Amino acid sequence: MEPSDSSPATSNITVRRGEPLVVVKDINKHYGELHVLKNINAVVNRGEVVVVIGPSGSGKSTLCRAINRLETIDDGVITIDGVKLPEEGKELAHLRADVGMVFQAFNLFAHKTVLDNVTLGPIKVRGLSKADAEKKGLALLERVGVANQAHKMPSQLSGGQQQRVAIARALAMEPKLILLDEPTSALDPEMINEVLEVMVDLANEGMTMIVVTHEMGFARKAADRVIFMADGEIVEETSPEEFFTNPQSTRAQDFLSKIL
Ligand code: ADP
Ligand code: MG
Repeated sequence: MEPSDSSPATSNITVRRGEPLVVVKDINKHYGELHVLKNINAVVNRGEVVVVIGPSGSGKSTLCRAINRLETIDDGVITIDGVKLPEEGKELAHLRADVGMVFQAFNLFAHKTVLDNVTLGPIKVRGLSKADAEKKGLALLERVGVANQAHKMPSQLSGGQQQRVAIARALAMEPKLILLDEPTSALDPEMINEVLEVMVDLANEGMTMIVVTHEMGFARKAADRVIFMADGEIVEETSPEEFFTNPQSTRAQDFLSKIL
């Protein structure tokens, strides 16, 4: 959503809205000979929703994984809230906990209940008591509309429900931002909206989000900015309106003609 000074100062998120939260500076990444990220520069401000869009293989997931330090980079710097991503160790675990991640393929812990899925991280990494984590976890499951599934196993839930649990699990860590990498791509069509609605709510609440998605409806409703990637480069960076109605590059035009 549009950063706004008039938003109520109820939390740090709103007070500090608009400052850079994620800064990606001159990063490069190779897989062997393949140059997957080519001198990427990007800034995501607090409270901002950035949609990353682009053809398969353009480096979108690699960029997300680099920001969460699930992937190393060859050179360049990534900072989150002013702190450079550490190489490893305890510091890394903490920094990673600040970045919620939701993947295309739900990735819930299959042998844990839904409630355990949302309480494990807060107990282990944030040091919450089991009782506190469960109270908070249930509230989050309620918020994404799956509280009545809390004691089931993930496999007993629909894809849309599992993905909403994955979002609740990410939120349970009280992350500074959330990365969602094609969160609706593996879902049956009738379940896409229930997940997008949760994402739109989050955006409206001021969560900083980086979302890889081709869902134009979401981009139009929630995104402040669209980043279009192709062949490991950021080719365009503009408003959703501008991107979908008036793409500048031939690569974006070609891409849009295929998906729209
Ligand atoms: P996107 O998410 O935009 O589809 P990816 O970031 O997944 O793109 O992949 C970018 C390129 O890097 C692709 O050519 C892909 O095949 C390659 N790639 C991704 N992960 C690996 C890996 N672990 N090892 C080797 N190549 C990879
Ligand atoms: Mg991908």
